[in-house]
Amino acid sequence: MGLVIALNKGRILKECLPLLAACGIEPDEDPGDSRKLIFNTRTGGHRIIVTRSADVPTYVENGVADIGVTGKDTILEYGEAMGFYELLDLGIGKCRMMTAGPVGVAEPPGVLRVASKFVNITRDYYQRQSRQVALIKLSGAMEIAPLLGLADSIVDIVDTGNTLKANGLEARENICEISTRLIVNRASMKTKFDQVQSLVSGLKEVV
Ligand code: AMP
Repeated sequence: MGLVIALNKGRILKECLPLLAACGIEPDEDPGDSRKLIFNTRTGGHRIIVTRSADVPTYVENGVADIGVTGKDTILEYGEAMGFYELLDLGIGKCRMMTAGPVGVAEPPGVLRVASKFVNITRDYYQRQSRQVALIKLSGAMEIAPLLGLADSIVDIVDTGNTLKANGLEARENICEISTRLIVNRASMKTKFDQVQSLVSGLKEVV
């Protein structure tokens, strides 16, 4: 039996497919052009599952997928009870997790109101700073929270900084560097060792 590989929809998928192709793993249809979410591969008997980023660790932890490709942000947010190994930094999807707030506005004293979809990362970060915060969980478009007076700051992914700038915000503190990682189910690491090893060493050569 081949490997089941879970990939993020969107930008990771686009950047990741050429890396897998270089290792001989190609879906039988272009996932970018199809509404299907499970693909067979042209050779090797593998399967590729295309899923939302936050669900990749869940599929891998539960053994539905042997391998997952997802951002370090998703892995950190998923938390410490990780039922998988993080084996490889694919060197793509590079960006930063940062705090940001309105340009030229100092953070208010007292309890800081921070909006993010990365609530675990945010909580950890401010705990390490011994700073008391009120967390506001959003699912996206965090940038508008300070503009609307919902929050004093946000925690979000920053690449070029254009999204922040377009919304009157500026990056403040760097929480951590993010890039795309390969994760492997703990049991698959034993039961499919040769296949996992061959994919990992193939990827190491192309990244
Ligand atoms: P930018 O305007 O270039 O700073 O991009 C910031 C926005 O793009 C963020 O709100 C993220 O949602 C998204 N983004 C940028 N890079 C990545 C990445 N490597 N992984 C996931 N999301 C990203």
